Amino acid sequence: KAEVDMNKGVAERESHLWNAMHKHDPDAKKMVAVSGEGSWFKDEEGNAYLDGVSGLWCLNVGYGRQEIVDAAAEQMKKLSYFPLTMNHQPAIQLANKISELLGAAYQTFFSNSGSEANETAFKIARQYHMQTGNPGKYKFISRYRAYHGSTMGAMSATAQANRRVKYDPSAPGFLHVAPPYSYRSLYSGTPEEKDLRAADELEEMIQWEGEETVAAVIMEPFISGGGVIIPSMKYIQRVADICQKYHVLLIMDEVVAGFGRTGKMFGFKHAAGVQPDIVTMAKGLTSGYLPLAATAVKAEIYEAFKTEGKDNHLRHVSTYGGHPAACAVGLKNIEIIENENIVNRVNELGESKLIELHDLMNHDNVGEVRQVGFLLGLEMVADKVTKEPLSDAKMGEIVGRCKQKGLIIGKNGDTVPGGNNILIIAPPLTSTEEDLDFIIETVSSVIHSM
Ligand code: PMP
Repeated sequence: KAEVDMNKGVAERESHLWNAMHKHDPDAKKMVAVSGEGSWFKDEEGNAYLDGVSGLWCLNVGYGRQEIVDAAAEQMKKLSYFPLTMNHQPAIQLANKISELLGAAYQTFFSNSGSEANETAFKIARQYHMQTGNPGKYKFISRYRAYHGSTMGAMSATAQANRRVKYDPSAPGFLHVAPPYSYRSLYSGTPEEKDLRAADELEEMIQWEGEETVAAVIMEPFISGGGVIIPSMKYIQRVADICQKYHVLLIMDEVVAGFGRTGKMFGFKHAAGVQPDIVTMAKGLTSGYLPLAATAVKAEIYEAFKTEGKDNHLRHVSTYGGHPAACAVGLKNIEIIENENIVNRVNELGESKLIELHDLMNHDNVGEVRQVGFLLGLEMVADKVTKEPLSDAKMGEIVGRCKQKGLIIGKNGDTVPGGNNILIIAPPLTSTEEDLDFIIETVSSVIHSM
């Protein structure tokens, strides 16, 4: 039996932990995190790192918030667990709060992860159509580059071949269409014109497939992990109109964008007049303090699940979904976001500070800097004219050098045919001005030293 060798230096120690998304590298030194405060965490050796991707876009209010810890502990003492086949107060309060924040009446089903929130949305969408006389509407459309989760349905909606090929066949009925990615669009015109052509393609797909077969479109308002794609808001409005026209539900994946990251409480709120049929959320809902996800469904859609005396209820359950402590944490987290005016803060500091990263556009290897609030993508290229992606080796070097200097930033996964060349920066929304300066200086100096 393999033993963890406690005599070895921690960094070299072999453990039994299976890390997510890591290529096996016997020489890699393990960094083991032990504590966090604000935007910073420390490893076992006492090194401090600024968490420039907020864990995985989770930590909206930063590490070490005592009031969140207290809220969880108090709830644990009061009612440690209760299933949502029945009711408990924190879940009701949080569902009501979510409805208020979304700006219309929504009914919320709680689960544990973004993937599960999306799975729930898919089942609700299919059942909704079945119960409203359209049982043939079963297909889902998502965009290339999108990441919607790791479970079979969410993986099938994830339109990145590298995340699927080893696990295929993925679920039937999931279709993929081009994203509004003006930097690499095949069309000509202004960015907005290019984005609108992507919406046209989506409409064409519905027409070719037959509107009577399409259940829903699932989209993030801003593709995050797939490379920080920031479309014209007219694109989102147009997709919402197309969905309405063909009686296709619009599922908005706010797992990353939700709870302030983009300078609005939800990303879709940037697109005036858009009110999605279903909104999925996780990560920022609790700032990662406890696992919790939500699938919020517009009241009009929920109506179809209420018919008296019929077997119209949702046959779907999640044992831990809406755990009382997680809901209490969600409520406290939202209270902090509101009381500390975090959404405005993201707008202001995004505009006055992080915007400085746009200066990097002058560098030969920076093709485009894309930003909305505290979500930034730097599209790195070997050549600005051909737009050839910067090599994996160089991308790894940039991320590695930032880490050496105490800054964790991300890059998109192996998603782009030909490269994964987009640096991702998404710090906690509570980052101080000094934290943001540190990010700007570190990223700038590393890129300029390449
Ligand atoms: N949707 C989006 C947009 C995500 O970024 C993620 C996670 N990176 C998910 C869904 C899945 O969330 P989880 O890992 O909690 O299942």
